[in-house]
Amino acid sequence: MALRNVDLNRCLFHYTNITCSRCQEICPQQAIHNREIDREKCDNCGLCTAVCPTGAIQSDTDYDAVLTAVQSKTFRRRS
Ligand code: SF4
Ligand code: SF4
Repeated sequence: MALRNVDLNRCLFHYTNITCSRCQEICPQQAIHNREIDREKCDNCGLCTAVCPTGAIQSDTDYDAVLTAVQSKTFRRRS
């Protein structure tokens, strides 16, 4: 279940003749081919998002909400 998608409007391939395949090369699951993410293979590790120079790969996960939930549990445990 992939929670990440490639925004082709931001991908370098869409605008230039520059060859970029950083996301595909770094993916440990070989889940990216031709700027499409195989939702069955992707484990949502985030490496593709980290290496993309244009921020074209985004996650559907609301990390602020996740962080808030974790902090809430942490504070509750310590108090
Ligand atoms: S999140 Fe990880 S597994 Fe999924 S496509 Fe990106 S690099 Fe591959
Ligand atoms: S790393 Fe980013 S710019 Fe490069 S091919 Fe992947 S999505 Fe496009």
